[in-house]
Amino acid sequence: MSAASSISGKGDAKNTETYDVVVVGAGFAGMYMLHRLRGQGLAVRVYEQGGDVGGTWYWNRYPGARCDIESMQYSYSFSNELQQEWEWSERYAPQPEILKYANHVADRFNLRPDIQFDTRVERAAFDERTHGWSVTTSDGKAVTAKYVVLATGCLSNARMPDIKGLPNFKGQVYHTGHWPHDQVDFTGLRVGVIGTGSSAIQSVPVIAAQARHLTVFQRTANFSIPARNAALTPEERDTFRSNYPEIRRIAREEMRNGIVQELPDRGALDDGDNARRAKYESRWAYGGLTFLSVYNNLVLDKTANDTAADFVRGKIAEIVSDPQTAKLLQPRDHPIGSKRICVDTDYYATFNRPNVTLVDIKSSPIETILPNAVRAGGKDHEVDALVLATGFDAMTGSVAKIDIRGREGQTLNAKWAEGPKTYLGLMSAGFPNLFIITGPGSPSVLSNMIVAIEQHVDWIADAIATMRDRGLDTIEASKDAEDKWVAHVNEVVHATLYPQANSWYMGANIPGKPQIFMPYIGGVNVYRQICNEVVAKGYEGFVMTATGWGRKVAVS
Ligand code: FAD
Ligand code: NAP
Repeated sequence: MSAASSISGKGDAKNTETYDVVVVGAGFAGMYMLHRLRGQGLAVRVYEQGGDVGGTWYWNRYPGARCDIESMQYSYSFSNELQQEWEWSERYAPQPEILKYANHVADRFNLRPDIQFDTRVERAAFDERTHGWSVTTSDGKAVTAKYVVLATGCLSNARMPDIKGLPNFKGQVYHTGHWPHDQVDFTGLRVGVIGTGSSAIQSVPVIAAQARHLTVFQRTANFSIPARNAALTPEERDTFRSNYPEIRRIAREEMRNGIVQELPDRGALDDGDNARRAKYESRWAYGGLTFLSVYNNLVLDKTANDTAADFVRGKIAEIVSDPQTAKLLQPRDHPIGSKRICVDTDYYATFNRPNVTLVDIKSSPIETILPNAVRAGGKDHEVDALVLATGFDAMTGSVAKIDIRGREGQTLNAKWAEGPKTYLGLMSAGFPNLFIITGPGSPSVLSNMIVAIEQHVDWIADAIATMRDRGLDTIEASKDAEDKWVAHVNEVVHATLYPQANSWYMGANIPGKPQIFMPYIGGVNVYRQICNEVVAKGYEGFVMTATGWGRKVAVS
């Protein structure tokens, strides 16, 4: 439906557009949110700073970008027709195909008329008089809405590193999270890649195959498991399609990470050396993120974890011919799995190419960037182009860029100065009618994110429908429920090995950012149950009130 609304209508005497819901972001979260709310007859406006839909897959167009969860699972489940008709070509779809899928969804469900592209939401302020939000956008306009949903993404605020001399570099500088739309051709060039996280690990083999020379600047080595990517056969697709109802149910209700996989029945130390090695070999041969679920205690017990980490370090030593390079590539400063494990195609083998050099910038940090080189450890590494695979201000970065003001003018940034505080990752006390999708305090980035997104969208849409049915118009997390949830999120993670890594989960990649473990590690299955119980107990921990549905204004 168009902007006219059964709740609040559109357009008032001052020509301020009024919506039931403003959604910020048109990635997978914002798109599905729009679809659900519109299905409830609400007037929804989505603002997206990018030029089109797709979010992550619109921005991250670097060579080699693809999903790390099998596409038959990393896809929407809300429409059976959609999941039956879409043809994923590979086990892990490449970025252009995922973006094509996002576009297909936008067309199939006619989403674009309600999305305003190339428009940033700059400010959102809660009005205690109308119990709604006033939203200001980068085109200088202000609209009002009863609800605001932040679908701003957990990995959407690409982080430019603060490296001395970077502005002096004369060649092209690319950030993986902000990649140009036109094909970038590295043929004949000497390329430097800074960073060795997932984005670098995917792009390095592809860039190496094209560039004259590739220099990889590594500060921290990461664990990576081969993807074993391949074309999907029609039989594989059919198996998923005919079993989708059960596969999706298991992903939502039984799996901690939203990925259907074999569940381990024992810990790593319950097996002898030979049996354990055989299991690791078999998972390594299978490939992908499920490597870590071979045992049930790898992220809980350091001794167990060491067996898996040693196995992967051994594989690196087998693959990489130069022992010095192999040693540098072996991660030793964090337990395997305490950062999102990387999934690659030929990453380690790429360092056997004669045109690839690994530079250790942990022992010899980058001193400065020169017009044509990166100086590290007193040596100038000449490069013609630089790729910054330096990651994101994750989970809170895009939210923090919006000036959000709740009750009594309190800003969300001030409230979150010591770290994000939410109830269930969905709402923050003092900010009524403001929802967050896959926010800090929810399983979000620890999971198959589409499973997490769909659950949050459904929960929010149902909450709004309930409010409407009951004639209520303000929902807010209680401070007490929020405090208890924040404590629970912390308690659960501290029983695991996750806090031992300087990860972006902890905010450790951003100088000055509070070091708080942000996602909820209890599992998407457990979390879903908690959210459902909260609803069953009458939205326990939320305060819902009736102040009238605001002004009913004429539709212009
Ligand atoms: P996003 O896709 O990030 O979309 C948020 C949108 O909000 C963006 O388009 C942004 O421009 C917009 N926005 C933000 N702030 C504003 C504002 N103020 N005004 C207007 N618009 C705004 N997850 C997985 O589960 N599996 C994977 O294989 C996987 N691979 C990934 C690969 C890469 C390279 C990256 C970076 C992330 C990956 N992720 C993966 C995580 C991925 O972000 C999620 O799976 C999912 O795409 C997130 O969707 P979203 O809609 O929540 O956020
Ligand atoms: P990342 O994991 O945060 O990695 C950033 C890399 O840049 C790290 O190696 C980091 O080193 C380095 N770095 C940052 N600042 C630096 C500086 N100033 N100087 C030198 N090195 C610096 O970011 P990412 O690779 O973009 O991945 C982020 C997340 O996005 C992933 O964890 C994953 O969830 C998702 N993702 C998924 C896929 C996929 O496989 N589908 C692909 C890409 C991204 P330190 O570790 O030492 O800080």
